Amino acid sequence: MNSISNRRLNFRVEGEAPGSKARASRLTTLHNEVETPVFMPVATRAVIRTQDMAAVDELGFPVLLANTYHLLIRPGTDVFRKFGGIHKFMNWERSVLTDSGGFQVFSLPNAVKISEEGAAFRSYHDGSTILLSPEKSIETQKCIGSDIMMAMDQCIPSTSEYGLCEESVELTARWAGRSLAARGDSLQSIFGIVQGACYPDLRKRSAGQITALPFDGYAIGGLAVGETGNERNDMTELTASLLPPDYPRYLMGVGTPIDLLEAVHRGVDMFDCILPTSHGQQGVAYTSQGIIELRRGVYKFSDKPIDENCTCPACRRYSRGYIHHLIKTGEYYGGNLVGVHNLTFYRNLMQTMRRHILAGDFYPYYLEQRDILVRGDENHPPVPTRVKKRKETLSLGSYEVVRQDGGFHSIRHVSSGEVMHSVTDPLVEAKRLYVDQLNIAETLSGHSAGSYIVWDVGLGAGTNAMATVREYEKIYEEMGELPELRIISFENDLDSLRLAVKNPSLFPHVKHPAPAAILGKGEWSSSRFPVKWILHEGDFCEHINSAVIPHCIYYDPFSLHTDTPLWRYSLFRELHEKCSGYKTMLFTYSSSTQVRGALLAAGFYVGRGAGTGPKSETTAAFSTPEACPPWIELLDREWLGRFERSSSKHGADCSEEEKIEIERRVLEHPQFD
Ligand SMILES: [Zn+2]
Repeated sequence: MNSISNRRLNFRVEGEAPGSKARASRLTTLHNEVETPVFMPVATRAVIRTQDMAAVDELGFPVLLANTYHLLIRPGTDVFRKFGGIHKFMNWERSVLTDSGGFQVFSLPNAVKISEEGAAFRSYHDGSTILLSPEKSIETQKCIGSDIMMAMDQCIPSTSEYGLCEESVELTARWAGRSLAARGDSLQSIFGIVQGACYPDLRKRSAGQITALPFDGYAIGGLAVGETGNERNDMTELTASLLPPDYPRYLMGVGTPIDLLEAVHRGVDMFDCILPTSHGQQGVAYTSQGIIELRRGVYKFSDKPIDENCTCPACRRYSRGYIHHLIKTGEYYGGNLVGVHNLTFYRNLMQTMRRHILAGDFYPYYLEQRDILVRGDENHPPVPTRVKKRKETLSLGSYEVVRQDGGFHSIRHVSSGEVMHSVTDPLVEAKRLYVDQLNIAETLSGHSAGSYIVWDVGLGAGTNAMATVREYEKIYEEMGELPELRIISFENDLDSLRLAVKNPSLFPHVKHPAPAAILGKGEWSSSRFPVKWILHEGDFCEHINSAVIPHCIYYDPFSLHTDTPLWRYSLFRELHEKCSGYKTMLFTYSSSTQVRGALLAAGFYVGRGAGTGPKSETTAAFSTPEACPPWIELLDREWLGRFERSSSKHGADCSEEEKIEIERRVLEHPQFD
């Protein structure tokens, strides 16, 4: 067979499968031989979450992946220098691959300033600003001492528009050259990464640029970030075909067992993904008979193991019924057991594929497994939900459901005619305007004083609160530790939430236990994550004094005309006093001069918030200048000039004395010094 080798990894293709592009190969790192196809479990912070590393060691994975971004922040490079690298630090004797850290930086919303030099972000550990450049990334990876380093690339959502993708391809090529140069004469290997989203011509351009550089292997990046399965398979096939045959090919961040099978069939050698353990925590197990979800009640009395053909520690010792119980009660050990089972399944899948490639019968195996790997539990098929003709309740109290042109549904306040989230899909708007600006990953990681409190003023149909709960759950799964989040919603009329809960098909955000609990008991706590949601029913103004001081306020009542008292200067003053001594952020959809003026006069520092739908900007306010994150631009003197000239800067019910006071306080505001 092909025996061309490159210098550092001595990569050799040992077998190719007829009827397929699948191949079996062997490479040698600084620590051991690696047979491919290979799956690399993700040890984010030098440990695989929920797993006993001694048990993982016994499974014999030849390579682990560790995240440079997380390790750079904690424990930091000094610790790796002291220990002489990650292998000694975590007592792992086989290979380690490190990513560049770029992917994590780019997945933090708003937190990044990208320049030719690199990507700047704020440390979630101590709040300091860190510039991740290709040189800094490689220097960190050298310190960590991984066997295989990754060049720094710019990863953007695979669904981004062409122009953005083209720029990212070009930047990635320049950063690839700098990464390679920064490696110098280190014996550590380094892989280049091909970008280009789902645009074939950009994939070709990027592959040409990256493979022109003398890397030790090539990765396919920018997939598994938003595209469909078919798009991913097509782009994998195209990109793999553009890579030189005598170097390892690595598909980053992918995927489920079926994804691995499809990509091996298309010529990929290496994979990493958090799914075996993150799905494990949700009780999703991959078996030789298909996928089973251990949360389901059908397993409550089952004394069979997860998979009768598996010899993992979970299947040797425990029944489905026991693991179902652990998962249902949120016990950590449940996630540990399903995780170790899934890791075993992945390891076996890779070894079996390799065996079939070498035996020359991979293609028939591929055809058979394509069906099996996506099968559900055929002995316990999902019970078809009985189709009940139910009369839809499309109005309740003061509210009614309206269908918008964009195909989504909103709730209208009948008497005022005001529609909650009328132009943009409510969930999209809630995410962009409130959740993304709160920036849970970064803000909560940097928060050290007890629970993080979010006030949700104007609960409405619960969209903002639910978008926050879901984002928190997602980020918690990824990061593993965050302070407790407590959402306090204020609402005087629960009919709009009731209306949404009665129509879950129109308002999918209510498909979660929390909204019903809020309606029933006025509060909800998650059994799996430290997140709590509490309702204060009644007028917001009456609750300000007694409610716990917030770190962030979603200010989303009806408009100035409908909810006039909630936009008054006097109320904002009360709010500002409430938060004095705290670093509190406030986000609201309004960008009116009147609202901004009232906030400034009340003592808030006021800046331009993210745009959403037709609004190019909204408003973000901060109790102190220290609470303002670096990506928010505070209003400047030009805005002040417009304020002075504006004829609509005061509410209709504002007294003359109040008008004078507001103007004076805005003009004297230290923000404009
Ligand atoms: Zn098992």
